[in-house]
Amino acid sequence: MAVTIAARVEPNMSLLLRGGCVVTLDPARRVFARGDVMIEHGQLAAIGERVAAAADETIDCTGCLVLPGLVQAHVHLCQTLARGRADDAPLLDWLRGTIWPYEAALRADDVRAAAELGCAELLLSGTTAILDMGTVHHQDQVFAACARAGIRAASGKAMMDAGAEVPAGLCETTAGSLAESDRLAKEWHGKADGRLRYAYAPRFVLSATEDLLRAVAARGGLVHSHASENRDECAAVRAQTGCDNIEYLERVGLLGGRTVLAHCVWVSERERALLAQTGTSVAHCPGSNAKLGSGIAPVVELLAAGVNVALGADGAPCNNRLSGFAEMRLAVQLQRARAGANALSAQTALELATLGGALALGLGHEIGSLEPGKRADVIVVAADAPTQAPLGANDPHSTLVFATSAAEVRDVIVDGRVCVRERRLTTLALPDVLARARACADRLFP
Ligand SMILES: [Zn+2]
Repeated sequence: MAVTIAARVEPNMSLLLRGGCVVTLDPARRVFARGDVMIEHGQLAAIGERVAAAADETIDCTGCLVLPGLVQAHVHLCQTLARGRADDAPLLDWLRGTIWPYEAALRADDVRAAAELGCAELLLSGTTAILDMGTVHHQDQVFAACARAGIRAASGKAMMDAGAEVPAGLCETTAGSLAESDRLAKEWHGKADGRLRYAYAPRFVLSATEDLLRAVAARGGLVHSHASENRDECAAVRAQTGCDNIEYLERVGLLGGRTVLAHCVWVSERERALLAQTGTSVAHCPGSNAKLGSGIAPVVELLAAGVNVALGADGAPCNNRLSGFAEMRLAVQLQRARAGANALSAQTALELATLGGALALGLGHEIGSLEPGKRADVIVVAADAPTQAPLGANDPHSTLVFATSAAEVRDVIVDGRVCVRERRLTTLALPDVLARARACADRLFP
């Protein structure tokens, strides 16, 4: 049944995904038990039970699940080489003891190796779009790696013009941090056929001056930061600013529909209302929050307040995997552990991982669901693993969230380009990526 005409589908060709169970996440949340998805010129052209048109290439999706690519609204590609190097510390010790010294030691070739490894893992596990925070230096390498890998990425250098125990190698002046961010935005925003976008990334309140935060807010672009991840961090913010973290961010003008805050584990009812009123998105990172012992974010309450919530794996050293499937499952499990078995449904988790992420990235009109006219970011997930059996009439949302892992991701299409085919990366040579990562990590962690 599989008809392969071209070895690699370029965005200007047409591609038909034939006969899979299509989970659209469109406004009606339609599911086609057996349906087709037609892609033309990098765009979704038709979705339905049977698309009659011919295509340059047809991929047989019989027995598979076809869905929008996962969107992760908080990752750190630059940290991938530190996976397994900081496993047992709370946030501020973790940052000051290992992660900041690691980032300060990164050379350009290290950042390249880390970003390529991160992109490879993300694509192979079904994530097609990310909001990424880099380190202070060598951010060009992150964008170049994303361009090569084929992933859709909003990213920006970390901005750090203040803070206790920040290594000298990461300390910036306010003007220098803004100037380098502006240069990078000019260089990369809109590149790679629009797949790359710039996001200003003040790391968190404890490493940013008020002047910096106000200047970032005044620029009007996408903003990506961390907030209220850990109780000690919240106490330090209160001591430094005289108010709670989210209230302070509102005071400096940083909340709004273009702002994404990772974590928001410790937010008061008033702060949750502020996030909702301003349209600020929260990137929920259940795996990272659990591993660092930070806590469990009040996702049920955030959603009830009307906050847009997305998911993210955060970095490799605090997770330690970058699988959107792992985060979806954990998100449901942790909310149910604290709020009961009806707290979060599998379908809601899938919505956070797709539509929520798309909205957070400012791309709600372009990605996050399978609808004609949107960009073709689509994944094909095999459904023949023992953990998924017997599939039968199971709810596909349940199968995807509770019973599917990264290993079942078969094909990954970003902007119409097949980046993973039959579980193999087509855009980067994985053995080379792994070898470079190993060599750089050996030097960084002798
Ligand atoms: Zn983070």
